[in-house]
Amino acid sequence: MSTVYEIFDKAKKEKRKFLLEPEAKTVCLKCGIPVTKFKVAKNEAEAVKFAEQIAYPVVLKIVSPDIIHKSDVGGVVVDLRTAKDVRNSYHQILKNVKRHKADAKIVGVLVQEMAPPSTEVIVGAIKDPQFGPAVMFGLGGIFVEVLKDVTFRVAPITVDEAREMITEVKAYPLLKGYRNQRPADIEAIVKILLNTSRLVMKHQEIKELDLNPIMVYEKGAKTVDARIILE
Ligand code: ADP
Ligand code: MG
Repeated sequence: MSTVYEIFDKAKKEKRKFLLEPEAKTVCLKCGIPVTKFKVAKNEAEAVKFAEQIAYPVVLKIVSPDIIHKSDVGGVVVDLRTAKDVRNSYHQILKNVKRHKADAKIVGVLVQEMAPPSTEVIVGAIKDPQFGPAVMFGLGGIFVEVLKDVTFRVAPITVDEAREMITEVKAYPLLKGYRNQRPADIEAIVKILLNTSRLVMKHQEIKELDLNPIMVYEKGAKTVDARIILE
């Protein structure tokens, strides 16, 4: 597995404006941010082999420097439960992508563990021209998209600031647990916020970072999609 520096270098050399999902997830892993298990398959047989190693159900996704929004082009298939499902989806994804962009460069197909549904949160970072990197937090889905219920802090953030960010969003009670909803692992989110802050401080070539969604469980959390945009 490449180091974080090697990953950024490779993207720069190839004049790419963003990291591929497996690259972004490797960066996350190396920085202590939990992600789904994943492997990049170069052919159908490999996709099946990796699905078995990772364990069903799995998700398949296109890996291409020409495609940043994967599901917009039919480049994501979730909840595959058998080798036959994997083989069919492998071909379907390549077909969908080629229909969208005939000359798209294909690096491979990402096989990854399907994260069980849970409370979804979003951790992000942007680089403000005046203040430098800032870290963002919110709950997923309508909370971010419709209600804009998000909060920001200029990086680097302290552990107290990370806790404040989580407790100050309006949707916080959903994380704390209510009625038969079990409480989410708040400390796991605190850790992700702190590690994201460290990552964007250390690698100033990051223009934008988007961990969306992160599934948060009673114990632990898992990043399902990671996007890192470069300057
Ligand atoms: P996009 O590039 O379109 O944002 P994503 O990787 O976010 O692609 O996949 C689209 C959606 O599919 C996600 O928002 C999530 O709902 C679902 N999904 C993707 N990967 C997984 C996974 N490993 N486990 C569970 N759901 C997933
Ligand atoms: Mg996504």
